[in-house]
Amino acid sequence: MAKHRITLIEGDGIGHEVIPAARRVLEAAGFDAEYIEAQAGYEYFLEHGTTTPEATYEAIEHSHATLFGAATSPTTKPAGFHGAIRHLRQKYGLYANVRPTKTRPVAGAFAGLDLVIVRENTQGLYVEQERLYNDTAIADVLITRAASAAIGKFAAQLAVQRRSHLTVVHKANVLPVTQGLFMNTVLDEAQKVPGLTTNTMIVDNAAMQLVRNPGQFDVLVMTNMFGDILSDLAAGLVGGLGIAASGNIGDQFGIFESVHGSAPDIAGQGVANPTATVLAAVLMLTHLGEHDLATKIDAAVNRALQEGPHTRDLGGTASTQEFTEALISYL
Ligand code: ATP
Repeated sequence: MAKHRITLIEGDGIGHEVIPAARRVLEAAGFDAEYIEAQAGYEYFLEHGTTTPEATYEAIEHSHATLFGAATSPTTKPAGFHGAIRHLRQKYGLYANVRPTKTRPVAGAFAGLDLVIVRENTQGLYVEQERLYNDTAIADVLITRAASAAIGKFAAQLAVQRRSHLTVVHKANVLPVTQGLFMNTVLDEAQKVPGLTTNTMIVDNAAMQLVRNPGQFDVLVMTNMFGDILSDLAAGLVGGLGIAASGNIGDQFGIFESVHGSAPDIAGQGVANPTATVLAAVLMLTHLGEHDLATKIDAAVNRALQEGPHTRDLGGTASTQEFTEALISYL
């Protein structure tokens, strides 16, 4: 019997290209796993009227981890639609969204960068509670002490395994009740971790500082929407969405995915860069304690990015398959 059981969800768009590529890399690297293929996303919704079938819940619940491709978020939501990945984050209490930003050998990348954005994943504005009263639209923001403490503890513990510095990003000057509760609760948790230094930073300043002086950061923790936006900004510093990965982690389950979406503009053409999904698989391996394998694939990714061939988003002409084969040859 295989040591690990992994659920693979391709989802939408380029998910159908990058998940098979990542699976080939995992298999070539010798990861001892059996795979369950499951479905979720907008394409599934259009056919079946729900984004996530029961079989997918079962697969996730009977796996050690899940690797997710991409999900389309249509701007105009059809009745009954809820975003697949947001739904899974809520259902499984995947409260920590971990998004590392590390310099890789990619043209135009900021040199020497190594930071992690920890985004609270289940609350904030993304509880998706919106209402329209005639010409007035209102959205709820949910912040609880318990969820803020959980993410604060997670971020603080991650920071002490790194360079022991935690930055709490917030907007408590304008939203003292919601953002204030988040910031103060995270700071309380951080204080319990010996050896950790902390600072607080208003989100607009954090955006500017990330561009001007990102080397000052180790781990940054923030509420859901700020984390969504700043982690894309951070991805842009080191080469873009094609190489940015994330983990959705809770106390019981972990779902690992790229930061990018389903890229409808290039889907089906076989040109998507699979690096982000391969690096999501690396995060998954680390989560599963397979550190040697994680290091081996990470090093092969760096060699492939350095020596090529490169996919279109990184200025080359290689297809997903050509890049994947090169990466496998560097393992
Ligand atoms: P969605 O609605 O699914 O979020 P989107 O187009 O709004 O889709 P992304 O999918 O993140 O958002 O794509 C943003 C841009 O980045 C697109 O031009 C897309 O082609 C490009 N892109 C995203 N991922 C990749 C990838 N893996 N390889 C190459 N280009 C990518």
